[in-house]
Amino acid sequence: MYSSPVSARNKQRGQEGQHCRRCAVCCRRGGPALHTPDIELYRRGAIRGKHLVTFRQGELARENVQGGLIRLEAEIVKLRGISGGFACIFIEEGSSLCAIHADRPAECRALNCRDPRALTAMYRDDRISRFDLIDRQSALGELAAEHERRCSLGRLGELAARYGLDGSRVARDAILEQLRYDREMRGLMAERANLTPAELDFVFGRPLPSVLPSVGLSLAASGEIFTLIPIQPGVGDA
Ligand code: SF4
Repeated sequence: MYSSPVSARNKQRGQEGQHCRRCAVCCRRGGPALHTPDIELYRRGAIRGKHLVTFRQGELARENVQGGLIRLEAEIVKLRGISGGFACIFIEEGSSLCAIHADRPAECRALNCRDPRALTAMYRDDRISRFDLIDRQSALGELAAEHERRCSLGRLGELAARYGLDGSRVARDAILEQLRYDREMRGLMAERANLTPAELDFVFGRPLPSVLPSVGLSLAASGEIFTLIPIQPGVGDA
């Protein structure tokens, strides 16, 4: 059948519309959370601990599909941002191309910015936690689990609520003890296991001072004197 040049061009445009333009706009808004199919990428080293950050249950995090903030009902593991920002760590400087395009995670494969249905359909399913990547029975896994037990957002939130209510010294001291433990555990693992700050953010989640805004607190430090300041529950950087 005859096809005019104009209709052929429109057809091509239509096909192009189905494909990623590789403009990296989505990649700059934040890296994906990992899902079950992505475990294999970690196992064969395409993605490593230093590329990841754990957002723990109870943290406030950005909702990439609907926008806004949500409180996480379960822990997620995401590709971390460049220099602590939003842009995915795998965006290549200069070209804006994906450094792991052939091995990009499931959310990136599902994403079509012109038609978000595929991403929306899978976004909340089969998300993994750090314990899908770290063996719970290993020394590192046991330390991560112990840290979670002592520094859970649930416990932190209860203490923050008590402190916000009446300035409870007991609650304040318990929060400061969590902060001390978190800092010392990270220092110990940096020294003894040579874990980098990025790897620590994967194994233990973000440092506790960074998650305090999720429970309505911020921390002011003057030398060795720490002060907790009640604030409006704030933004996580997921
Ligand atoms: S892994 Fe690649 S495709 Fe996915 S957000 Fe990062 S740079 Fe973009």
